[in-house]
Amino acid sequence: MRRRWPDSTPVLVVGGGLGGLTAALALARAGIRSHVLEKADDFVELGAGLQLAPNATRILADLGILDKVAEVAVFPRRLVLRDAVGGGIITELDVGEAFRRYFGHPYLVMHRHDLLSILLDACRETRAVDLDPGREVTAVVQEEASVEVACADGSWHRGPALIGADGVRSFLRTILSDDPLVHDHFVAYRGTLPRAEAPAEARFDQMLFWIGPDFHLVQYPVRRGELLNQVAVFKSERYQAETDDWGSPDELEERFRPACAAVKAGLQAIRRDRRWPMVHRPPISNWTVHRLTLLGDAAHPMLQYIAQGACQAIEDAHCLAVEFRRHLPDVEAALAAYQAERAPRTARVQQAVRVWGEIIHVDGIG
Ligand SMILES: Cc1cc2nc3c(=O)[nH]c(=O)nc-3n(C[C@H](O)[C@H](O)[C@H](O)COP(=O)(O)OP(=O)(O)OC[C@H]3O[C@@H](n4cnc5c(N)ncnc54)[C@H](O)[C@@H]3O)c2cc1C
Repeated sequence: MRRRWPDSTPVLVVGGGLGGLTAALALARAGIRSHVLEKADDFVELGAGLQLAPNATRILADLGILDKVAEVAVFPRRLVLRDAVGGGIITELDVGEAFRRYFGHPYLVMHRHDLLSILLDACRETRAVDLDPGREVTAVVQEEASVEVACADGSWHRGPALIGADGVRSFLRTILSDDPLVHDHFVAYRGTLPRAEAPAEARFDQMLFWIGPDFHLVQYPVRRGELLNQVAVFKSERYQAETDDWGSPDELEERFRPACAAVKAGLQAIRRDRRWPMVHRPPISNWTVHRLTLLGDAAHPMLQYIAQGACQAIEDAHCLAVEFRRHLPDVEAALAAYQAERAPRTARVQQAVRVWGEIIHVDGIG
């Protein structure tokens, strides 16, 4: 027989990124309290832009925050794929009104920090979420009817369930899997610049994907169109996971040398002081052990080529809250139902990203 919901302690959510905070808000909307333990001293989002497709925006609507999001987002009219070497248009997709009518919800682009702030405000307003920064979870003890975590500062916290939303280098995932991170030898540089400083070819009503052999540049507006977000990605030939001698700004210039003038103009405006190695893991079929489950990048870290990592984390959060509500007080039944629905879907998305990565980095388009 399954164990029952033990007491009124809040569900523990480890990680206060987009996935963890969406989970906390979704649980609150389902009438379930949560306690978010975040290792950083504050809730912050690194990086800049975020594309959200209708599979995510419909959930933001359901959570009651899409109106707030719409105040700071941009709703692009088109997604345009261009040849990064020759400059020509390869294909384009209308993501405007007709797209919105068809899917019922919009495609939008926004600053990550704006979404995080909206989620934080919404969590605070519910009074059902305890936001607890400066708590790095370092150990987990599962008991008969509850689960406890220890933090680096010596504190202990207990709850009926534990949601590991602790990102691509998840500590909680190591409890149930020893699969290593996969390094694809690709590296990203990203950042925003004010509209007035944007290169002439950048467009503020479109998402531009400049694709080339083993490199690409993505450009789209964020924050009501006040900023241009840019992500430059390339395969580092000097890549070595254990060293820092790869993907340097010199190599960025070198790899983008065949690019057309418009791409080079964008590249000039990209900050060189930080780079992100692209990492992921193949799908696993089990994310759950007893009262612990995973969510977002901790469960299904994927490459960003189809812009679905955060969208899938948002889907996870919604599904988790639905299953908790359906099965409460039976925690294990809720987590089993959550995993049964989410693992196959996210595995398909992880596979699709890899295929898309092959397509956009192909040589000889022109
Ligand atoms: C270049 C790039 C572009 C992308 N673009 C898009 C896009 O356009 N659309 C999209 O949907 N996705 C995109 N993604 C993917 C998206 O960014 C991620 O999938 C998403 O942010 C994952 O959210 P998360 O909450 O699961 O993890 P994270 O955002 O990594 O949050 C994890 C949190 O857990 C905390 N943490 C870690 N360990 C501990 C611990 N032991 N104890 C307590 N706290 C801990 C961390 O500090 C962090 O705050 C992109 C990714 C990249 C790299």
